[in-house]
Amino acid sequence: MIYIGNHVSLKDGYFAMGKQEKKLGGDTFAFFTRNPRGGNAKERPEEDFENLRDFLTKEKFGTLVAHAPYTMNLAGKKDEVREFGQRVFKEDLQRMELLPGNYFNFHPGSHTGLGKETGTRHIQDALNNTLFPEQETTVLLETMAGKGAEIGSTFEELARIIEGVRLKEKVGVCFDTCHVWDAGYDIKGHLDEVLDEFDKAIGIERLLAVHLNDSKNPCGSRKDRHEKIGLGMIGDEALERVVTHPLLQGRPFILETPNDDEGYRREIEKIRNWIQ
Ligand code: FE
Ligand code: FE
Ligand code: ZN
Repeated sequence: MIYIGNHVSLKDGYFAMGKQEKKLGGDTFAFFTRNPRGGNAKERPEEDFENLRDFLTKEKFGTLVAHAPYTMNLAGKKDEVREFGQRVFKEDLQRMELLPGNYFNFHPGSHTGLGKETGTRHIQDALNNTLFPEQETTVLLETMAGKGAEIGSTFEELARIIEGVRLKEKVGVCFDTCHVWDAGYDIKGHLDEVLDEFDKAIGIERLLAVHLNDSKNPCGSRKDRHEKIGLGMIGDEALERVVTHPLLQGRPFILETPNDDEGYRREIEKIRNWIQ
């Protein structure tokens, strides 16, 4: 069994996201911890978090997978970019503690010319400056497609980041099917081998969440263009094997496909048919 859901908007608050996802048939969801391209987060009353917490327990939802804004780049070349990223990471992690026990996913970062080694060190520094022993949130490094100067498009690069983090027990990985495919991992022809590679490099126990997307482009294209489930180059059969894979059971699966609400409702329904 898996949990399935999609990205929902925080515009009407936390409790509203839970109710919205239930309407779509999901039992987990993702949301941006603040405007994905903007600056400051809008603060919400404590009661809003409390209502969502009660709702999630009552409705037996799986772990949520919050997403950091795209403007957060912990590996950036400019000091101001990294300082902004560090502030956002701290503030949003702190706010996630109002929904204890969930995941906070982020793109490891783009080194923007610094080189992967220095970029990796900046990401490790940011994690070591931010994570704290009492936190109940697990942060997830997302597997990347490898466009531009992105760090984290190979399992080894993610493993290297984690190696330098002191509180390793607070760190996991979010496996994005479009991104790993675009990065060159053939999950269509060789899913078992890809998961085995993940296990050898990182450890399969760190694979805590999945972003379930089809891809508009062929394996290894490094493009990062998501497609609706079944309409892309990965296809229904291969994505069904991901969803039903014994090593991935119990995880939250998040759709990040180009859909409106009705499209998400139908995709969730289709995936529920695969898993029953
Ligand atoms: Fe992402
Ligand atoms: Fe993703
Ligand atoms: Zn993507």
